[in-house]
Amino acid sequence: MIGLVTNKRGITIATREADCTPIILYDPVQNVIGNVHSGWRGTLKKISQKAIHMLQKEYQCKVEDIICCIGPCIGKCHFEVDEDVQELFKQTFPHNLEYIQKTQMKEGKQKYHIDIEALNIEVLLEAGIKRRNIESCGICTVCHANQIHSFRATKENSGRNATLIGLK
Ligand SMILES: [Zn+2]
Repeated sequence: MIGLVTNKRGITIATREADCTPIILYDPVQNVIGNVHSGWRGTLKKISQKAIHMLQKEYQCKVEDIICCIGPCIGKCHFEVDEDVQELFKQTFPHNLEYIQKTQMKEGKQKYHIDIEALNIEVLLEAGIKRRNIESCGICTVCHANQIHSFRATKENSGRNATLIGLK
């Protein structure tokens, strides 16, 4: 879980992920950028809202001007969790239970699939970001592990994807 914001030109800010959700922010009016690594813990803590609040407070950005792009992350097809983790999501997102799905039993344990990309969109909307200003690539890192690094797919052999944004 990490977030960076700046209005300095000539600097590229980067986060690294392998299944976690990268979210880049850009306000073309105030010329401010942000880059957030929103893993499942970061999503529960709504880290992207903290970055948005920083843009508003420190850089006088208007929330309706901020553009958000969500990069490749683990999809609902592959983000499988146990009872304890799904309970945390249920508590944090009681109005978005459609993104938390009960699936099969494995070795006597109930499993759940979570749509972390959709929940990250909800977190952005809750902060006041306009739906038309949210772009999401919809690419699951595990499904595309031959092209993109995925920790779930290749475990400790996994590299990291870099998400970059900079102001000219
Ligand atoms: Zn997948």
